[in-house]
Amino acid sequence: MQKITLIPGDGIGPAIVDAAVRVIEAAGVKVEWDKQLAGMAAVDACNNPLPDATLASIRANRLCLKGPLTTPVGGGYRSVNVTLRQEFKLYANVRPAISFEGTDTAFSNVNLVTVRENTEGLYAGIEHFITEDGYKIAAESVAVVTRKGCERIVEYAFDYAKRTGRKKVTLVHKANILKCTSGLFLEIGREIAPRYPDIEFNDVIVDACAMKLVMNPGAFDVMVTTNLFGDIISDLASGLIGGLGLTAGANIGADAAIFEAVHGSAPDIAHMGIANPIAMIMAGVMMLEHMGELDAARKIEQAVRDVVREGTHVTPDLKPGSAVGTQAMADELVRRVSA
Ligand code: ATP
Ligand code: MG
Repeated sequence: MQKITLIPGDGIGPAIVDAAVRVIEAAGVKVEWDKQLAGMAAVDACNNPLPDATLASIRANRLCLKGPLTTPVGGGYRSVNVTLRQEFKLYANVRPAISFEGTDTAFSNVNLVTVRENTEGLYAGIEHFITEDGYKIAAESVAVVTRKGCERIVEYAFDYAKRTGRKKVTLVHKANILKCTSGLFLEIGREIAPRYPDIEFNDVIVDACAMKLVMNPGAFDVMVTTNLFGDIISDLASGLIGGLGLTAGANIGADAAIFEAVHGSAPDIAHMGIANPIAMIMAGVMMLEHMGELDAARKIEQAVRDVVREGTHVTPDLKPGSAVGTQAMADELVRRVSA
């Protein structure tokens, strides 16, 4: 039986992770959940936001479904999410944005996936101030882009497109200004593209990309880009389909893959029983796809899309005033998925 590390997380995490687990099990997937702590829950239990046992579990299982985590402010803790990214070399952040019927958004035809390089670029963490007499007179940040880093993310994007039946990969860059870092990324994209003759390849400058996305998102399929641009573009894409409560992401690495909702722990609504579980359930769908459990993934995604379209069994963030909570929405999905 497939063993998967399960991190309930903080705030609304435990409730939405529980919903995801119930829906996955209802779809008939046999999983042994290896429950582990991280975030505030782990600080409370053992004074460490990322205990060794949790790291060891992810290392052994190589698959993790993770609820949102809060990194405690003060106390000198490193961000748990950043640590996980580095520890397991999670180089690809994959975020689909596919319109949900029944949501109030400007476009109804969004169907794209952002593949963001997750370890290099301007987020490599090489930054410093230059001071004169204790006075900050400048700040410098070094973007690191390696051939190996570019190759693996571009290959990941093409392989993903091929595997999921997508037709086009668009490389997003700023090579006209950032001639070295963005230039190398584009150069390597152009080197690799001919190895995938069945997939169309083009490139677009990031600012133009932002404009085109909000004018005609239907023109995009798979987008591959460096860390900073990917951070911004993937949030933009999430916004196009109705935002936080609906979007999931996968962090794929050489040593493990971690699946999560895009939103945070939502402390403002924690323990109120009204959190929308969809983003977390869609993280589960991505995990099932990664595992090759395609039938279960399709079945769950269909049920989620039906329930959102019908708008009856949805949480108040999707239908203001709705009395349906996290549990009730999950119950309805379980009923449909196990039918
Ligand atoms: P964190 O510090 O963990 O990131 P946050 O305060 O930034 O937490 P987010 O989770 O990023 O909170 O969410 C921002 C807003 O969106 C909050 O008002 C939150 O209640 C709402 N929200 C986030 N996720 C959900 C969800 N699954 N269902 C309903 N509302 C949500
Ligand atoms: Mg947040």
